[in-house]
Amino acid sequence: MRRTKIVATIGPACDAPGVLRDVISAGVDVARLNASHGTLDDLVRRLAAVRFEAAAAGRIVGVLLDLPGPKLRVGDMADGVVLEEGAAFVLGVGECMGDESRACVTYSGLAADVEPGDRIVLDDGAIELVVEGTGGDDVVTRVVRGGALSSHKGVNVPGVCLALDGVTERDLELLNWGLDAGVDLVAQSFVRSAADVNRLRAAMGDRTVPIIAKIEKHEALVELDAIIAAADAVMVARGDLAVETSPEAVPPAQRHIVAACRDAGKPVIVATQMLESMVSSPRPTRAEASDVATAVFEGADAVMLSEETAIGAFPAQAVATMDRVCRSAEDSGEPDIDAHPGAGAASPVAAAAVDLARDTGSIAIVTTTQSGATARAVARLRPPQPIVGLASVEAVARALALVWGVVPALGEAPTTIEQATTEALEIVRALALARAGERIVLTAGTASGVAGSSDLVRVLTV
Ligand code: PGA
Ligand code: MN
Repeated sequence: MRRTKIVATIGPACDAPGVLRDVISAGVDVARLNASHGTLDDLVRRLAAVRFEAAAAGRIVGVLLDLPGPKLRVGDMADGVVLEEGAAFVLGVGECMGDESRACVTYSGLAADVEPGDRIVLDDGAIELVVEGTGGDDVVTRVVRGGALSSHKGVNVPGVCLALDGVTERDLELLNWGLDAGVDLVAQSFVRSAADVNRLRAAMGDRTVPIIAKIEKHEALVELDAIIAAADAVMVARGDLAVETSPEAVPPAQRHIVAACRDAGKPVIVATQMLESMVSSPRPTRAEASDVATAVFEGADAVMLSEETAIGAFPAQAVATMDRVCRSAEDSGEPDIDAHPGAGAASPVAAAAVDLARDTGSIAIVTTTQSGATARAVARLRPPQPIVGLASVEAVARALALVWGVVPALGEAPTTIEQATTEALEIVRALALARAGERIVLTAGTASGVAGSSDLVRVLTV
């Protein structure tokens, strides 16, 4: 059984008949809808398609809505614009048709935020500009590295703190749609502080779903611990992070972020370009296989596919490849990180369950869970046994699909210990996790219906 989870981005490549079915049955745990691309209609259609295929496959698949966040982009560009090295180039504000000398962004504060000498990069770092000065709202630059520039390409200003609003109008519209439509998780792009996360959570009102903070800004590295504490989960968003810092800064940042999340007991996803060559090739490079395995060795909860499944030519093969690489890495031994000091104090019930499972030779740990908290606390200790996250709320079960080692399952909220016991025994049989005579460990709360109230650990014989 694979313990590391797979997040796959669902895009146009999954729209052809039968492709999504193959993608999901190849092992997707969480389907990501990237709201930065396509129309609202696309999101609506793909959400319905994921729900349909997951039900058809009898699998619990989480749906993650990834909000665009405050990403700066150039506006419309004339066809065939190429910026030449050494040329002057102006970034203005508002709406204009861009050309070789000028492009427009919608953010009016850029001229106030930058200083001469600052670097501005376009199109994921392909083009580089250096600021020479400002005039009114205009930022006057010199092209350091040229290239073709087409409409709506991204603009990053590495190392500079922009005074942009962390949650945009568009984010709020999409969030509102997603909560109405019943997505299970929301990812927040370009988070810079815990306050950004708190703002998004406040916008959810009482329709809360877990928030995944994407770490892709230099500011977020500085504020990491506070962001981890504020968020429900974290994504190492290596694509933009590399542009905002440098490619060589990303591997140590990844290692640090994964360890910090493991310490805090928050699920962490490693994302972007993991099997990039599979966008156009049926086989990964050796380096890519190694990259996925490294995330597994570091103890990440999940690894993610982006373009590979969204626009690639081999979407199902990419998922199958990731599945095999994860299994192989897991089979090679324990993750690099041991159970964390202080973990017992953080969740004595989880620690007791893991110890008891080991000492009694139990072959599964079943957590009846109201909010998912107990299942996550057990997963944090990375026990060798499968962890069944038995939730009574469908959205909670689906969100648990992201968590390392947790087999999400749906049951009724037990009102008595006897009922929890019966449900636990039924679910391990139904999932074919245990045979007659084998032992399992159960955690449950005797104050029924109260999140975070697990206070019972019990060994059961099937
Ligand atoms: P994106 O985020 O795919 O939404 O840009 C991930 C990343 O930047 O790595
Ligand atoms: Mn990004």
